[in-house]
Amino acid sequence: MDRATICVQEGYKPENGEPRVLPIYQSTTYKYDSAAELAKLFDLESDGHMYTRISNPTVACVEKKIAALEGGVGAMMTSSGQAASLISVFNIASAGDNFIMMGNLYGGTTNLFLVTMKRMGIEARVVSPEMSDEEILSLFDDRTRLFFGETIANPSLAVFDFDRFAPLAHSKGVPLIIDNTFATPILCRPFEHGADIVIHSSTKYMDGHAVVVGGMIVDGGTFDWTKGGKYPELTEPDESYHGVVYTEAFGKSAYITKARVQLMRDLGSTPQPIAAFLLNLGLETLDLRIRRHSDNALRVAKYLETRTDLIESVSYPGLESSPEHERAVKYLDGGLSSGVVSFSMKGGREKAMRFMDSLRLASIVVHVADARTCVLNPASTTHRQLSDEMLREAGIDPGFVRFSVGIESADDIISDIEGALACL
Ligand SMILES: *Cc1c(COP(=O)(O)O)cnc(C)c1O
Repeated sequence: MDRATICVQEGYKPENGEPRVLPIYQSTTYKYDSAAELAKLFDLESDGHMYTRISNPTVACVEKKIAALEGGVGAMMTSSGQAASLISVFNIASAGDNFIMMGNLYGGTTNLFLVTMKRMGIEARVVSPEMSDEEILSLFDDRTRLFFGETIANPSLAVFDFDRFAPLAHSKGVPLIIDNTFATPILCRPFEHGADIVIHSSTKYMDGHAVVVGGMIVDGGTFDWTKGGKYPELTEPDESYHGVVYTEAFGKSAYITKARVQLMRDLGSTPQPIAAFLLNLGLETLDLRIRRHSDNALRVAKYLETRTDLIESVSYPGLESSPEHERAVKYLDGGLSSGVVSFSMKGGREKAMRFMDSLRLASIVVHVADARTCVLNPASTTHRQLSDEMLREAGIDPGFVRFSVGIESADDIISDIEGALACL
C-alpha cells in the first residue's frame, strides 16, 4: 500500500458489526477467564494486554499504523518525544557506556543526552558533518553503543547524510537511531537509508493540530544484536523476566519487545488511550498535510529570498540555493522539505521581535509543525538569557526567526509576511 493509504487504512481493522472508527479503550485493566491465561502473559508466552502502563488496544492500533508507515517490524508509543529519545538509547546503553550524537539535535534532546543521561552514567560524544571520518571514528571505543541523528535537524534544518553516517556506524558494529520528527515517514523512511531504529515526537506533524504530546519508537528489525557481544541487555537472560533472552525469544523484534516489557513497565512513560486516538486522527491526513506544508514553505522561502533589503539569509532545504538541497533531493521525496523555514533578519533581535509583533495571521507560540502558521525568535524566548555574543557562539544569530509554515493559503501567508516587513 502507498503511504497515503496506510495513513487512512492501517492499524484498526473492525470486524463485522464493530465501530468503523478506532474506539478509545479507556480501561487500565483486562479481564481473563483463568489465572493460568494471565500467567502466560506474565511469562511473555502469549500476546495480549495485561495492564495499560504496558499496552492498550487503542494505542496498539496507532503503533501498528506508524510501524507500517516506517516499514518497521514493530513500534511503541510513549507519552512524549522526550520519553522516546530516552528509552531508545537507554534500551541498549547502561552506566559506563557511551554513544555518538550529532551536534545539531533538538535542544530538548541535547539537554537529555548531555546533562541528564550523564547523571545516569551514559556519556554522549558530539560530532558534526564538518569532521572527517577519521575524527569521528576516533571517538568510538568498545563501550560505544549507537549513533544518533535527526533527518531534518530542529532548528538548523540540516539534512542527515545517511549514505555517509549509516555505513560509518555499522563499520563500528553499532546501530543508527534516527529522529524522523520533521520529515515524517511521508518524506523520508530512514530504514531504507540504513537506519536501524526510528523515533518520533508525534507532537509535531504526526498529530499536526497541536492537541496532544506523544512519541514513538519504531524498530526496523535490521540490526544483528548478537554480533560482537555489545548488547548483553538483549542477548543475555533478563532476571526481571525469569531469564528470558530477548534475541532468542523475539528474533527481529527483540529491541522493541524489550523496550516495552522491561523499560515501559519500569519507567511508565505511558501514553493515554485518548492521546493515541487523537494521534490516529491526525495521522489520517498526514500525507495530505505534509505535502501542503512543504509546497507552502517552498513558496514562502522563495519569497523571503527576494527580500534581501530586510532579510540577511534564508535557510530551507527545498531551496536550490541551500547547501542542504542535494541531500534533500536524495533523501526527502524529491526535495519536499516540510514546513519549517529559518531566516535571519537584518538588525538582529530587535528587528526580529518587531517583525513578529507585526504579523497578523502567524501567531507567536513555542511550537512548530502544526496546521497553523507560527513563529518563534529563539533570541527573545528559548535562548533569552544569552547575550548576542553568546548566541553567536552557540550558532544562533540574534535575528534568527524560525517560521513554521502552516496549511493555510500560501498567498495569505506571504501577504502576512509582506505586511509585517512593511512595518519595519
Ligand atoms: C519536539 C521535538 C522532540 C521532543 O518531543 P516532545 O514530544 O516535545 O517531548 C524531539 N525531537 C524533535 C526533533 C522535536 O522537534
